[in-house]
Amino acid sequence: CGIVGYIGANDSKEILLTGLEKLEYRGYDSAGIAILNEQGMNLFKVKGRIATLREKVDASVMGNAGIGHTRWATHGEPSEDNAHPHQSATERFTLVHNGVIENYYEIRDEYLQNVELRSETDTEIVVQLIEQLYNETNDVLEAFRKGLSLLKGSYAIALIDRENPDLIYVAKNKSPLLIGLGDGFNVVASDAMATLRETNRYVEIEDKEAVLVRADRVEIQKLDGTAVERESYIAEIDA
Ligand code: GLU
Repeated sequence: CGIVGYIGANDSKEILLTGLEKLEYRGYDSAGIAILNEQGMNLFKVKGRIATLREKVDASVMGNAGIGHTRWATHGEPSEDNAHPHQSATERFTLVHNGVIENYYEIRDEYLQNVELRSETDTEIVVQLIEQLYNETNDVLEAFRKGLSLLKGSYAIALIDRENPDLIYVAKNKSPLLIGLGDGFNVVASDAMATLRETNRYVEIEDKEAVLVRADRVEIQKLDGTAVERESYIAEIDA
């Protein structure tokens, strides 16, 4: 399973698909990508291989921000509906996740009584929760941080807000996720292998941080909002 994200001057589509191919070795049963452009969010999901996803992706769809996922199902059978990315009720928020949310029943019962769920995954709970918290706070970053603080279990997460195409929200807990730094773009990946064609400069994320990835900068915060400074490093791996 794995995650890839891109935000920057170029079209994200090919970078996501190539990145997912590089993550194939981790094993998966389904895959999907979401690409954001002026027309809105474009979602492509399949059960099966990245090659099948490639066939399904509309080659004419372009967008400067995108997230991709390979899934190893833990909650809900491998299917197109259960494949990531998952979306909130209004489809404003789109999210990919690796890991297992242990308290997803509790979250569903406490926060999502009025939400009609569209999949059988623990993951969908996360994106629906963030939207519910956003409805209360009117502040996406606050909703993201509050949402993270309520989750128990393991996660690597990348979230896109349709209303803010300049930003990918990222976080991890006990699942791998890295930020790759480029010139005019930045990437997110479970494994630097996925994005070595794009960059060899990376920044580590620690557990339970909220990371805001823009094309020209990366901002790391603790869940209480305190800013975190972290040096990047050069990954010494051959692509
Ligand atoms: N638990 C999530 C699911 O079943 C994510 C699985 C994964 O890490 O790919 O959809």
